[in-house]
Amino acid sequence: MRNTSSEDGAVLDVAVVGGGPAGLAAAVALLRTCPPGTRLQVFEAGATYSASQGAAVGLFLNGVKALGALEPTLPHRLIDEAVLFSHWRDYDDVSGELLPGSMPLDRAGGLRAAGYTPCHVQWSTLRAGLYELLPPGSVQFGCKVVNCEEVAAAATTAAADGDSSSGGYYELRIARRRGGAAADAVGSGAGQQGEEEGGEEEEVVVRARHVVAADGYFSRVRRTGGDGGRPTFRGKVRWFGSLTTSELMGAVAAAAAAAAAAAAAAAAKEGEQQEAAAGEALRLPECLDTARHPDGMRSVHRWMPGGPNRVLDVQAAPRGFVFYPISLPDAGPGGSRLVWSMYADLPVLQAAGVDFPPPPPPSAASGGGAPPAAASADAPAADDAHGAHVGGSRARGVAALQRALAVAASYGLPADVRSIAAATPPERVSEFGMYQHTPEMSTPGAWARGRLVHVGDAAHAGPPDGTGANFALEDAAVLGACVRQHGLGPEAFAAWEAARMPRLFDHLYNKSIAPGEKWGRMQTVDFEPLWRPEQVLEAAADITASSRPHLVPPPQVAEAAARAVAAGDNAGATQAIREWAWSALRRAVVVKAVDARIIASAAEVDPAAAGPQQQPAAGPQQQAQQQAQQQLPVVAATAAASALS
Ligand SMILES: Cc1cc2nc3c(=O)[nH]c(=O)nc-3n(C[C@H](O)[C@H](O)[C@H](O)COP(=O)(O)OP(=O)(O)OC[C@H]3O[C@@H](n4cnc5c(N)ncnc54)[C@H](O)[C@@H]3O)c2cc1C
Repeated sequence: MRNTSSEDGAVLDVAVVGGGPAGLAAAVALLRTCPPGTRLQVFEAGATYSASQGAAVGLFLNGVKALGALEPTLPHRLIDEAVLFSHWRDYDDVSGELLPGSMPLDRAGGLRAAGYTPCHVQWSTLRAGLYELLPPGSVQFGCKVVNCEEVAAAATTAAADGDSSSGGYYELRIARRRGGAAADAVGSGAGQQGEEEGGEEEEVVVRARHVVAADGYFSRVRRTGGDGGRPTFRGKVRWFGSLTTSELMGAVAAAAAAAAAAAAAAAAKEGEQQEAAAGEALRLPECLDTARHPDGMRSVHRWMPGGPNRVLDVQAAPRGFVFYPISLPDAGPGGSRLVWSMYADLPVLQAAGVDFPPPPPPSAASGGGAPPAAASADAPAADDAHGAHVGGSRARGVAALQRALAVAASYGLPADVRSIAAATPPERVSEFGMYQHTPEMSTPGAWARGRLVHVGDAAHAGPPDGTGANFALEDAAVLGACVRQHGLGPEAFAAWEAARMPRLFDHLYNKSIAPGEKWGRMQTVDFEPLWRPEQVLEAAADITASSRPHLVPPPQVAEAAARAVAAGDNAGATQAIREWAWSALRRAVVVKAVDARIIASAAEVDPAAAGPQQQPAAGPQQQAQQQAQQQLPVVAATAAASALS
């Protein structure tokens, strides 16, 4: 940190800290519901967004409904880019043998019962979809908030904008990378989150009347300006990486060429071992041999300890390796994107002679930062980078990959599976400890205090079971509704916490509710649309000429909505657009399922089935039946999703 300066003194109405799904969705929700001219800025620590960040996010029914509350076309826009897995396959992680219980997912059942079945989108696609809804320049990149402090109301008389009418404000100290501000290079792949660019940092101070902390589970804002809460280490480490099919093929071919060259050299030089020169050969994973496994590219593959004590949940098992494609085989240059993640408990790392936390990265070791504190259940690592989704830089990635490979080799993960990791470009490998909030961190006042509110993982980080992003989207939809009802301020934030805490607490911690019941409750929810029908009709006018006409309400819907708006029937216009958006989403999922050969034709699911808003009210018995029907496929798909995040 070289310089200290302050911003021009203007006080923001809202500072959103963190540009992940929760922060972006909250920003969209607030801009939809706050008065025009509200000064809102998102501060994101990462230098930019990269399309290769993250793995897949399962979009459950609650998540798509929350997205639809932010913007009616967003769910089907995202589903256009989603993947539907047809199977999940479990293998013994030493013998490689397919384990019993591997099964196809009942997509048709889900579509028939709920009109939807969970789809997976790239995490970065979800983030980009939300980002595109914000006005240009809303996100300032390379801005890491290091401290958040409330300045008492009395002190605001001296506030530079001269407005003391609305109480105190917050001072955010931000470590800003020079040149990082307002870089709008989303998805350019030009940079990676957390990348150490070696550039100069300056400190800036930003004032804001309201703060939305969306800075993830190691939330700095929560630690410095909130209840001081920090998550607990779960005794588990996770790696993940991604590569394209062509990178995998290329690495396998290069390794084969290197092996051949080494063999030739060894033959020429008697007595030298071929393996010593060539290292371990890479092999194409057997599960991707589509001649033998036609659905191999449409499945989730999971390797974990088999045997009588087999644990079905890969994250509950002491170790696990998960691998899946997240774009369709014919997608874009480079072929499909393949994502893997690996989990291991500390004893598994110890057996492999791998320390956790890892030694500091080269820049820190050479004086750039303090080594992280030892991790234990009682004392989580002091270095926030450790609990966050780090990696991205080549230096970190090389170390992370070597550590992952050492652990995998030590317990005997089959060589063809290890090849997936070994072929991954190191800059796309990350490693991090897994942390989680305790139930005590969900007590009133912990998520909302005055004009500071925490959303997403900053408020409630549970196990990575695939629900985190969906609940983060719900947070935003409900926050918008509360602000619409109470106006921006403490009352809205308190109402938001009162609405959110029981739902999240039950899902994360309430053991008296059976898992199936929890998943059922998760889906049966609805959100008030935050958009105005006129906005949707205006936006549609801009899209008409584009190549995606299905994003635009058809003329009869647009005309009906416009007529309702003209007659002052806002509710009628909203309903017309919601019904259209729901049917467009349903159609997008069915098309995807047919394309992916998950169902043979649209007729396999009931084409007349209508969306939730269109269904006639069901009696209690019918409701119970519907819920039970709905839960089975959703639970099955959810179990697979839990292995993905
Ligand atoms: C790089 C990355 C990849 C992920 N990939 C997946 C995935 O593939 N599947 C999945 O299910 N979940 C993934 N997650 C987690 C998932 O996004 C969250 O569990 C959930 O969506 C809640 O989102 P969030 O916005 O609350 O938190 P996060 O997604 O963690 O976002 C927090 C954001 O805040 C930024 N930030 C952190 N500290 C600061 C600070 N001090 N100042 C400013 N900005 C800060 C981070 O850079 C990040 O962009 C990923 C998270 C990250 C950061």
